[in-house]
Amino acid sequence: MLTIQHLIQHANVEPLEARMLMQYVTGYSRASLISRGHDVLPASQAQQFTALVARRVQGEPMAYIIGQREFYGRPFKVTPDVLIPRPDTETLIEHVLQHCGWGAEHALNVLDMGTGSGAIAVTLACERPHWRVSALDISNAALSVAAENAEQLGAQVTFMHSDWFSAWAAHETHPTFDIIVSNPPYVAALDVHLQQGDVRFEPRMALTDEADGLRHYKSLVQTAPDYLKAGGQLWFEHGYDQAQAVREALMDAGFIDVNTIRDLAGHERVSGGTIRNK
Ligand code: GLN
Repeated sequence: MLTIQHLIQHANVEPLEARMLMQYVTGYSRASLISRGHDVLPASQAQQFTALVARRVQGEPMAYIIGQREFYGRPFKVTPDVLIPRPDTETLIEHVLQHCGWGAEHALNVLDMGTGSGAIAVTLACERPHWRVSALDISNAALSVAAENAEQLGAQVTFMHSDWFSAWAAHETHPTFDIIVSNPPYVAALDVHLQQGDVRFEPRMALTDEADGLRHYKSLVQTAPDYLKAGGQLWFEHGYDQAQAVREALMDAGFIDVNTIRDLAGHERVSGGTIRNK
């Protein structure tokens, strides 16, 4: 007969994670978990808790075990089909919200390329409900997670299945955007990071370009101008050591006012620029 408190204290994971797993199993709030610490947990729930702890001990990310991760203050559903949203990406959100406004009321056309869980697109649509936000991904499984997040969070986002711009490439006309954002797979194929921690459980196609990490930036800066309105902006998240290469790619492709923003850890994390008048 094991109490909630005993199970939490003897779980072989971080105390905070043990409490989160217990909340997940019992459905209790943080506060009732404490006040009910001496309750005996029904055997089925105790077993479920032990099984979740065992998965965590094997290294599986918390976000996949409980199926959720908070991003920019909102809960996002995540599955192993999508990259787990990271605080680094909130830097991109902050920047777009604060500096790409063109007057708060203007209904901007925004595209998120490689949306994954929809963290970027859904957050922008929630924060700026009058913007028209579109999002694409090569993975149908990811798109269904993203669509669920949009629905749950009451965001209007138009989703499209596409390998970058390819779904539009065959058409004579296609939309143009005021802002295009992307957090593309940017880890180099041989980076040891891919074999470490949570990353081992995440979709490889969301993490690496199977090349030097810069492949997608170099091709997207070439194609994106066709999909930007005159004066439109392209903003990327990138690795902490990729800022200069990404800025050079943007400048080579004719972007002006090319700029980099640091994340909360002080790393150069987000770069972008404006396309010249066309
Ligand atoms: N930030 C992620 C990591 O380093 C990579 C995300 C990406 O490739 N877009 O694990």
